[in-house]
Amino acid sequence: MHSPDLLEVWSEAEIVPISALEHYAYCPRQCALIHIEQVYEENVYTLRGAALHERVDEVERLTEEGVVLEYALPLWSVRLGLMGRADVVGFLSDGTPYPIEYKSGKRKVKYHDDVQLCAQAMCLEAMLQRAVPKGAIYYHASRRRREVAFTSELRALTEQVIQETRAMLLSGRTPPPVNDARCRDCSLIQLCMPEVIARLQREQTP
Ligand code: SF4
Repeated sequence: MHSPDLLEVWSEAEIVPISALEHYAYCPRQCALIHIEQVYEENVYTLRGAALHERVDEVERLTEEGVVLEYALPLWSVRLGLMGRADVVGFLSDGTPYPIEYKSGKRKVKYHDDVQLCAQAMCLEAMLQRAVPKGAIYYHASRRRREVAFTSELRALTEQVIQETRAMLLSGRTPPPVNDARCRDCSLIQLCMPEVIARLQREQTP
């Protein structure tokens, strides 16, 4: 679903899915494999993630400690050319939105998660005309939340990631593998073959 205003400003190809930001911030090649080449290899991480998302993938309202929770809320920003969906948005007693993203792993600071959450916050601000100063990542494995403040630095970084992601998606080109520690936890390692490609590149270098 697109906001009508979004398509007045951006072409369909220019609109960046919010989920692509997390992928790009983790590894641009991962983002290209998923969003350009449309591959998705299920492994234990993605299966657990999918199961988790199935649980929260229903639009319903709950009231918990005075916070109203909205699940699977559609999000967009005309200024940023972004669209996607929030796992959960809490509305505090004064109406302030508080985005919550669910992750299947343990509590850990990961800047690509923060970028995705910050993009959700900026969409909520644009849609609801309310300041969104903080949100949280909920880690299913450890049942813990990590609060994220949407600082000016994180907002600037998020805008940079949006621009870079859009440029890469429009280029239609998949970058070479990073072939570093990120690959160990990457759901696409079997398809990406980072070590094989890195070896071939070394062999072709004079
Ligand atoms: S295996 Fe490594 S290089 Fe390939 S997509 Fe995953 S993180 Fe990126």
